[in-house]
Amino acid sequence: MLYSSTQNASEVVSAAQAIAQGISKDGGLFVPQSFPKYDEKDFRELLKKDYKGRAEKIFSDYLTDFTAEEIEDCVEKAYTAEKFGGENPAPMAYTQLGGVDLNILELWHGPTCAFKDMALQILPHLLTKSLKKTCDGKDAVILVATSGDTGKAALEGFKDVEHTKIIVFYPVDGVSPMQKHQMNTQEGGNVTVCAIKGNFDDAQTGVKKIFTTPSISEKLAENNMLFSSANSINWGRLLPQIVYYISSYCDMVNERKIAFGDKINVVVPTGNFGNILASYYASLMGLPVARFICASNSNNVLTDFINTGVYDKNRQFYTTISPSMDILVSSNLERLLYKLSGNSDKTTREWMTALKTGGRYEVGDDVKAVMNEKFYGGFCDDAQTKRTISRLFEEQGYLCDTHTAVAVSVYEEYVEKTGDNTPAVIASTASPYKFSKAVLEAVAPDAELPETEFDMVDMLNSITKMPVPAPLAGLKGKQTRFSDVTEVDKMPEYVLSALSVE
Ligand SMILES: *Cc1c(COP(=O)(O)O)cnc(C)c1O
Repeated sequence: MLYSSTQNASEVVSAAQAIAQGISKDGGLFVPQSFPKYDEKDFRELLKKDYKGRAEKIFSDYLTDFTAEEIEDCVEKAYTAEKFGGENPAPMAYTQLGGVDLNILELWHGPTCAFKDMALQILPHLLTKSLKKTCDGKDAVILVATSGDTGKAALEGFKDVEHTKIIVFYPVDGVSPMQKHQMNTQEGGNVTVCAIKGNFDDAQTGVKKIFTTPSISEKLAENNMLFSSANSINWGRLLPQIVYYISSYCDMVNERKIAFGDKINVVVPTGNFGNILASYYASLMGLPVARFICASNSNNVLTDFINTGVYDKNRQFYTTISPSMDILVSSNLERLLYKLSGNSDKTTREWMTALKTGGRYEVGDDVKAVMNEKFYGGFCDDAQTKRTISRLFEEQGYLCDTHTAVAVSVYEEYVEKTGDNTPAVIASTASPYKFSKAVLEAVAPDAELPETEFDMVDMLNSITKMPVPAPLAGLKGKQTRFSDVTEVDKMPEYVLSALSVE
């Protein structure tokens, strides 16, 4: 299977090249030229497998330049029961709210307690093998822009991985205290963490610029290094996310929540559009998804886009209690648009150029029609997010984080508006303990909150009795290693200096 760039169809690479490079030289994103199609027999086979077995099957159909042994090795190392707290790294939880069934796909049982672990525990293994295949002997420099969760998950995945160095940039005022603490205390000899004076979009644009500046890449090449990406622009990030949608369907069939062949809806709290795109790709493989429900917070650029066909990032940016979704430029939408435009690199390039220059583009009626049929966009503000956390906890004793609550809230609104009672899988993307303050304010609005993050964690634990994940509890009292803050336009110099290649 080959991959081509969304912005230049003649840029064609193998899976290993796509993963090693991260992003195409023209600034486009690598997409598979076709999607493997699973029929009834394939799905019946998948039902019998465990998560790892399902992952191996799906990986092998996309990574055709990897051997079966290589794929097995990656999967075995990534999804251990030790790292994910059990044999199934992505278990389902079944609950209800106001009489509406919620089938919750819990994706946060990994080492950093956010769904990013599902991909970032395996990406380093895929990447080191890809580097061997494509440019043996070079070291990969992983540049990451994070809205909070990717940074820590990437640091944890790449720490002390041979032939890699990782540099993470996060918005100085745009992540939760727990997220900041997780990153600034990171261990490992090959890691660097730096805050930027800007928001996530500034960080992401800065990183993309560094990737596509030839003079910087040349400097790295002289030193036997090359850039790669652990953001969801990297195919190696998206592919592992396809697995859990297919796996959740199998689990729901096996757990008799749906019948084999039943259609489902998928609800995803969305920022950069990677997670929801993975569910769309799963549907192209044969997963019977009727509707993709895209849930946003007050940064509702995607809600507007789905409803009007106009993408316009020229709007107020809000810092919310679901910071991992505080994003106005959703990178992976580019991959969806490429597909919906009939794989037109020319049209995709025009839209992306318009976005870069004027911050706005409008898709044609054909694309709008498909969007309308397959996607639903909704959003909710912080107050509504907290009400949802509180209601779900009061009614069912189920505690969810702020991002998941956005998804639940938008899903409730969807059911009310449409009457559609197709069973829905709701992606739950983080542990509530990563956002203790907001979750406490939701479940105990009258309580006086303690000052420190870990006192809030303890208070939330004593109120809800939900266990604190060990990786978060273990951070208490840990020394800060990183405290650098840089201006956005100094990011290139910062990178070169961190790599000692000025
Ligand atoms: C990253 C993240 C999201 C957004 O996912 P995208 O793939 O960027 O759309 C939602 N919730 C949490 C907790 C996250 O960490």
